[in-house]
Amino acid sequence: MITPVLPTYNRAPMAFVKGEGSWLTAEDGKRYLDLGAGIAVNALGHANPDLVAALTEQAGKLWHVSNLYRIPQQEKLAEMLVDKTFADTVFFTNSGTEAAELAIKMARKYHYEKGHPQRTQIITFEGAFHGRSTGAIAAAGSEKMVKGYGPLMPGFVQLKWGDHDALRTAITDQTCAVMIEPVQGEGGIRTVPDQCLKGLRDLCDSTGTLLIFDEVQCGMGRTGKLFAHEWSGITPDIMMVAKGIGGGFPLGAVLATENAAYGMGAGTHGSTYGGNPLACAVGAKVMEIIADDGFLGEVTRKSGLLRQGLESLVAAHPTVFEAVRGEGLILGLKCKALNTDIVRAGYQAGVLTVPAADNVIRLLPALNIPDADIATALTLLAQTAALVEAA
Ligand SMILES: *Cc1c(COP(=O)(O)O)cnc(C)c1O
Repeated sequence: MITPVLPTYNRAPMAFVKGEGSWLTAEDGKRYLDLGAGIAVNALGHANPDLVAALTEQAGKLWHVSNLYRIPQQEKLAEMLVDKTFADTVFFTNSGTEAAELAIKMARKYHYEKGHPQRTQIITFEGAFHGRSTGAIAAAGSEKMVKGYGPLMPGFVQLKWGDHDALRTAITDQTCAVMIEPVQGEGGIRTVPDQCLKGLRDLCDSTGTLLIFDEVQCGMGRTGKLFAHEWSGITPDIMMVAKGIGGGFPLGAVLATENAAYGMGAGTHGSTYGGNPLACAVGAKVMEIIADDGFLGEVTRKSGLLRQGLESLVAAHPTVFEAVRGEGLILGLKCKALNTDIVRAGYQAGVLTVPAADNVIRLLPALNIPDADIATALTLLAQTAALVEAA
């Protein structure tokens, strides 16, 4: 008999009742060190006092008003994002998927309004993940996500990851945009080299193609910069953001240059909840904390600590792990043993990790994870490896 909750997830049996920093407590009292952070969402840990204060203060005043009216909390967060990034303008959503939908619409509308309505094709890459809407699954194109959901939204061309020659010939007079994650998350923590991002920018510039970055997972401080593409020195025309920006409260955004937003006047897009006062009050506090050079420097330092420990872990358990991947605190362990077996052994040892494609486990801890918890994480991961070796 079907469960009251639609069974689309293969869930682990634990249910958590309380979170504090990088730790979660389950119903049975067992504590787990959370290296998944709700898949890169709880960027400042669980029950962060500053975020709780921002949320409760706003909750006592006003939760929701329609976008028919000005929303000062939304304006404030938009100004903060514009101030710290390439973007001139921001639209707020409730999720990454909704951000992907708008990115697609905005890019197509741009060419339409610029007199090139035939430019509708969006180039994406194998291993990509952009969300679960019909547009986003068509963009990602993985068989697992699209099977049975046809007909798919047309207009996506998918290329092999890292195939530069294919990219050069794939851009035609039908091409609208290139959409890419600077660090693939679900795809197995695969970083696009800076050189490739630069080449991509040049190619887009010379062909009038819009460049869309999906920084839903790798953005908001994960790599040690506010956004991952900053390491490469180039900027996109449109960027999707979500996950960490709400620190655990549902919030997403599309950032764009004034040029890319050319077609998006009044009435062209909307959202009932997107950018509501509650979400934006929390988002502004998250931004205030994360978009600080001192904070981001700490992410890089903590990354060094964790990474060094992970290299030793891999060396000590060569039948379980193969290599460390990723940047900052978006790290992956390429596995020799089955990644899902390792994640499950982690539950036994009391540490939460997240599987990804390419037989990788993801480590996406809170960006402010204390050094002592990093040391504990390495101990628990070693215990996890021992459990896998003994099985
Ligand atoms: C999670 C994710 C999405 C989808 O975000 P939702 O909030 O789950 O809709 C899109 N792109 C990337 C890179 C993601 O990691």
